[in-house]
Amino acid sequence: MKPFFTVIFIGLICVSFIVPAEDDWGFFGHRRINRLAVFTLPEEMLPLYKSNIDFLTEHAVDPDKRRYAFRLEAPRHFLDMDRYANVCLSRDFNEAFLSFAEIEFVTNEADTIKIHSIDSSWCNHLPDASLTDGNQIWDFPKSSLKRIFSRFVLPQYYDSDYKIPVDSLLPLLTDEHTGVKSVRLVDHFTEHGIVPYIIEQQYYRLVKAFKNQDKDAIINISADLGHYIADAHVPLHACSNYNGQKTDQYGIHAFWESRIPELFADKDYDYLVGKATYIRDVREFAWQTIHESGALADTVLSIEAELKATYPKEQQMCFDQRLGQSVWIQCQDFAFAYQEAMNGMVERRMRQAIHSIGSLWYSAWVEAGSPDINFSNNFKAVWKVDSTVIKYDQIKAAGGKGYGRPHD
Ligand SMILES: [Zn+2]
Repeated sequence: MKPFFTVIFIGLICVSFIVPAEDDWGFFGHRRINRLAVFTLPEEMLPLYKSNIDFLTEHAVDPDKRRYAFRLEAPRHFLDMDRYANVCLSRDFNEAFLSFAEIEFVTNEADTIKIHSIDSSWCNHLPDASLTDGNQIWDFPKSSLKRIFSRFVLPQYYDSDYKIPVDSLLPLLTDEHTGVKSVRLVDHFTEHGIVPYIIEQQYYRLVKAFKNQDKDAIINISADLGHYIADAHVPLHACSNYNGQKTDQYGIHAFWESRIPELFADKDYDYLVGKATYIRDVREFAWQTIHESGALADTVLSIEAELKATYPKEQQMCFDQRLGQSVWIQCQDFAFAYQEAMNGMVERRMRQAIHSIGSLWYSAWVEAGSPDINFSNNFKAVWKVDSTVIKYDQIKAAGGKGYGRPHD
């Protein structure tokens, strides 16, 4: 074979062997984390969760599968904390959405007047939000804006266009803005991640399921909630440089959360994390978790960059067996060196995720009044059939990608 074609041939082999990493925490990590969280639960809850431990393990990855068929699933798994380093971000979902939304008034003359909030107006305790079109400023009651949002925007949240009746926002217009044809709200918030809001939302769904003593719902929601909590513990899920794409560290996402756990988690990690504890303020807990992750992101990135610069180049990437296939991936010794340099951070965050999941499952039960729901039978939950999860296999088999951010 001529050298030129040899190079192409080897190139093709390499490309075909590079199997993209699975999604966050890897499927391996999510399954382990949900499974181990069961053992943190108190005696009263253990029988129900233990008899459904295979369900909780298997369906720990459903939210990642949904990303393949559902556009708005991806942002539920992260939040770019660095985007908000110097900007106010409300912990109330509706307020946060409105603080970054743009209201567009389209006039009969086909002009578009764009109005948006002034930064910080949603984080102070004043009753009015300040809005501007870049020239003038209006004060508009927050309660009215929230009402309009709940009534008109939330029902359309899963559409791509949020239309609002013109009359509801007329006070924002001056006399010269006459003849408004339509009003749209443009979302500049969701795409940067919403994981702490989703943790809170799923938690209260779980409380409701406990109150209703609906065991199918309890197990189904627990599996999903576990996934989102685990993701919030990953530093690269709390930063916009989530795959090192801004610093030439492409692939670091899967290196940290898939490669390292798969190599070392079963062999070396200590999973005795203690008993679940009651969390009084779930909103605060979710935000504290994502703040901690955000604070670790720089360390995750800088240590990898430093190691790559000093570790022998030819010993960084290897062919290895991963999920039954040959892949071109970080060498085991290199991965070990990265883990050591981070001083066991992956293990610590994994342990903390396990404990947090157990604690929120437990807290939801307590918050529902610790109902006696006949935990001690051999009840097996029925999966709440989710067509977006089912589509995953078809889309993946056809070589399709998920919505949202590429991590591989
Ligand atoms: Zn995820």
